[in-house]
Amino acid sequence: MTARKIHTKVAMKHELPDLPYDYAALEPHIDARTMALHHGRHHAGYVARLNAALEPFPELQHRSALWLLLNPNKLPGSIRTAVRNNAGGHFNHSLFWRAMAPAAGGAPEGALAEAIARAFGDLGQLKARFAEAGARLFGCGWVWLARAQQDGELRLYSTAEHETPATQGNYPILVNDIWEHAYYLKHENRRDDYLAGWWAVVNWVEAAYRFEHGDPAERRWVTDLGYPRVAAA
Ligand code: MN
Repeated sequence: MTARKIHTKVAMKHELPDLPYDYAALEPHIDARTMALHHGRHHAGYVARLNAALEPFPELQHRSALWLLLNPNKLPGSIRTAVRNNAGGHFNHSLFWRAMAPAAGGAPEGALAEAIARAFGDLGQLKARFAEAGARLFGCGWVWLARAQQDGELRLYSTAEHETPATQGNYPILVNDIWEHAYYLKHENRRDDYLAGWWAVVNWVEAAYRFEHGDPAERRWVTDLGYPRVAAA
């Protein structure tokens, strides 16, 4: 056996998370080719460009995507924009894949269902508001159901490019990608069709878990995306 290096500082790189299902698993609502390009090229591209931006700065390489987004003032000015775009893309897409599942959809249960009723009246009204926000969004962006830092209740947010409500302390519960690359191959310009069909693949189990367990005040927030980044000793 080779001796294990215990005290070596390891340069950690951000990694593309595996999809929790096959590319074809969300058919017919999201086609396999779109998923393959979206995950294997778009998301992979954000990860690669994030790592490239951090390459000259080993002291930042162990930081999570969320930490990088929350602490722009601790970044060298020369990489601030690249980090915002690419850590944002990485963070948002990592949530997005898990916001969906094969043979999902239906309706949320438990505390999340109650919170939706408090905030929107019922699930139908949430879906209608979500569709409106998606239709209104100009250019590229995302629509989110998030727990507002202010009062812990659910609210809808839309963000441009790869911005995320997490940077304002609003904890993401559910998110849909409204960039054209998310839907154009199948739905072309019919964004409304994409938004309407998306509910059939929404992973309410994951959303309910996030609602019940995620707390903006907890460190969990940084690590619960499945890619905790802990500095080597
Ligand atoms: Mn995308």
